[in-house]
Amino acid sequence: MTAGAGASGSDLTRTGWRTPSRARVARIRARLAGVYGVPVAGPHGHPIAELVLTVLSQSTNDRNRDVAYLRLRERFPVWEAVRDAPTEEVEEAIRPGGISKVKSARIQAILRAIGEPLDLDWMEHAPVAESQAYLCALPGVGRKTAACVLLFAFGLRDVPVDTHVSRVGMRLHLLRPGAPFEELHDGMLALTPPGAELELHVNLLRHGRRTCHSQRPACGACALRRMCPSRRA
Ligand code: SF4
Repeated sequence: MTAGAGASGSDLTRTGWRTPSRARVARIRARLAGVYGVPVAGPHGHPIAELVLTVLSQSTNDRNRDVAYLRLRERFPVWEAVRDAPTEEVEEAIRPGGISKVKSARIQAILRAIGEPLDLDWMEHAPVAESQAYLCALPGVGRKTAACVLLFAFGLRDVPVDTHVSRVGMRLHLLRPGAPFEELHDGMLALTPPGAELELHVNLLRHGRRTCHSQRPACGACALRRMCPSRRA
């Protein structure tokens, strides 16, 4: 799928969806930036920390995730210590983040799979596709987590599609409603102008959290309602 390409017959579905034009993406991006601003956070340069954070963020809120992360780092100052510790000790450290038994085992499995040296800094200068393939081969790591590592740690060209981004993207018909996970990531990347990866991800996520809620989207107060094919009366 390529943003800006003319709609082909195969783009059309029963929902009337077609590949969004560059102009439409630009209008939506500008409207979102008008409401939420343009995020300016630079890459933090810590890929393993980002991997661990994404595991800790599963099924909890940001606050509990951060408490669990800080407790983990206080108890184990280096990643080798997390990897080699008894799993129960890691589990105890991250307990505030919820489902700590599952998460502790997953974190250690990922760290062990990376092997020696326990280091992913090489990704900063590697082809993105190579790093994506490496990350997605780690236990329990998929496209979204890989994109978080590449974008947030290094500022590389990838866009995480989480539950908010996919919901808002589908409602705005940026993404094909009902598309499978892989297609959502490929589609999001195709429609995102180079350099706007962080901005589009963050602003679609903010819109999903603040206005375009899962159950009761606040369409009446939505700044994008005139351009939204899914708006409710
Ligand atoms: S109009 Fe409604 S469905 Fe469309 S983006 Fe806004 S809140 Fe979401």
